Amino acid sequence: MPELPEVEGVVRGLQPVVTGKLIKSVDVSPTIIHSKENGKEAIIKGADVESFQSALPGMAIVRIERRSKYIYFHLKNQDGESFLLVSHLGMSGAWFYVRSLDDIMEEKFKKHSHVTLHFDEDDMLVYADIRRFGELRLLETEADYPPLLLMAPEPFNKGALDHYLNMSLLPRYENKPIKEFIMDGHVVSGCGNIYATEALFNLRIHPARKVKRISKERKIQLFHEIVAVLLDSIENGGSTISDYRSINGGAGTMQHRLQMYSKKNCPICGKPTKQKTIAGRTSTYCGSCQK
Ligand SMILES: [Zn+2]
Repeated sequence: MPELPEVEGVVRGLQPVVTGKLIKSVDVSPTIIHSKENGKEAIIKGADVESFQSALPGMAIVRIERRSKYIYFHLKNQDGESFLLVSHLGMSGAWFYVRSLDDIMEEKFKKHSHVTLHFDEDDMLVYADIRRFGELRLLETEADYPPLLLMAPEPFNKGALDHYLNMSLLPRYENKPIKEFIMDGHVVSGCGNIYATEALFNLRIHPARKVKRISKERKIQLFHEIVAVLLDSIENGGSTISDYRSINGGAGTMQHRLQMYSKKNCPICGKPTKQKTIAGRTSTYCGSCQK
């Protein structure tokens, strides 16, 4: 599943090539049309296919930014009104900026091209999603989809640390395992399983330790470690695990730098790692080194 650094990589890839582009038309795959007709909210959320397709032409992409694990396409129509196209990559979503679908080199993505934004210079931006857990939502503002307003501040922004510390004192969080706490998007924005696993291992904190059993000083260290791991990953183009691709189909190298995520043996003591399900996700940790 793409996490914050991978989404950042996609956004950095998109910014120079599609900022300023004018959307001419929108294609939606028969698979999505069929699913939507059967009442499933496949990829296009909160709108039917026809209204989604007819709303976008004539809009220009004025700015692209990442917010947590979402991509925000800021749009303007010909009357100067602002809109927001919000994209979440789900488990295996990817954007490709190409001249034709055949330019998507990997068959598995080409075959699962679901939404295509055609621009006025015969270039296009294609959203492909093998497992179809991704989301596209056309909004006027963030407030039209309230979960966006509940996300924790960006981890690199001022205020994010205080927000996290304040949340750690709330009754609903103090008895939670620390890993579940840091992976909660209301607490820290964009810290998924990979980077939570790494940050906890780097500080030798057991993922199941309760939040209230960790000192304020340790919690602060942990927050800074999460930020450091996320920044390290952004610098290395993200982790390419299963289906993450950057917009030119490339991949990151952070997976080679991971110390604990999906490892069989602890890189410190050499003992076999352990696995435990926390918040529905498999947590890998060292039972000897992490306390
Ligand atoms: Zn160990």
